[in-house]
Amino acid sequence: MTEAIAQRRKHVPLRTCVVCRDKTGKRQLVRVVRTVDGVQVDPSGKLNGRGAYLCERAECWQRAIMSDVLAKALRVTLTAEDRERLKMAQP
Ligand SMILES: [Zn+2]
Repeated sequence: MTEAIAQRRKHVPLRTCVVCRDKTGKRQLVRVVRTVDGVQVDPSGKLNGRGAYLCERAECWQRAIMSDVLAKALRVTLTAEDRERLKMAQP
């Protein structure tokens, strides 16, 4: 009984852009995940690994790539390849 109520009330978890900390949920957030092959954009949201979210603002992607904000969130050091991959995937 209480379980059924809890399920019906289950809310969508808010995601926060790691750069601007925006979590309105109105803006589409893109999942970036740390994998054995490096940091990758994960449009499906299904890749395993430590993930972080970026909103679709170009300035957030630039800051994520140029600064260590994203790297810190993922607890990795971004390689040149990672940065290049993120640039290509930028919405
Ligand atoms: Zn943002």
